[in-house]
Amino acid sequence: MNPRQRRRRHIPQRTCVGCGETASKRSLIRLVRTEAGVVLDPTGKLPGRGAYVHDDPSCWEKALDRSLARALRMQIGDEAQAQLREALEAHKESRHHVG
Ligand SMILES: [Zn+2]
Repeated sequence: MNPRQRRRRHIPQRTCVGCGETASKRSLIRLVRTEAGVVLDPTGKLPGRGAYVHDDPSCWEKALDRSLARALRMQIGDEAQAQLREALEAHKESRHHVG
């Protein structure tokens, strides 16, 4: 399908639902569908259907606009989108402070 998926090392690759590019799992943020809605999963350990986005607002926006809902097979309302956006921004900031 995609020849670029072949990599020399065994690093898990995931597709960003925002831009559609493949990246190493560690450079993406995992979002998980739970009973309470979509949540960020920085540890990557939550059970459930997940999707990945880059740590990049342009990717979140594309994902929130459409592809995330499709990837998670659920509807994401305006309020849930706003909450996710906030969570992603908070996550981004915390990473920058640590980093
Ligand atoms: Zn992306």
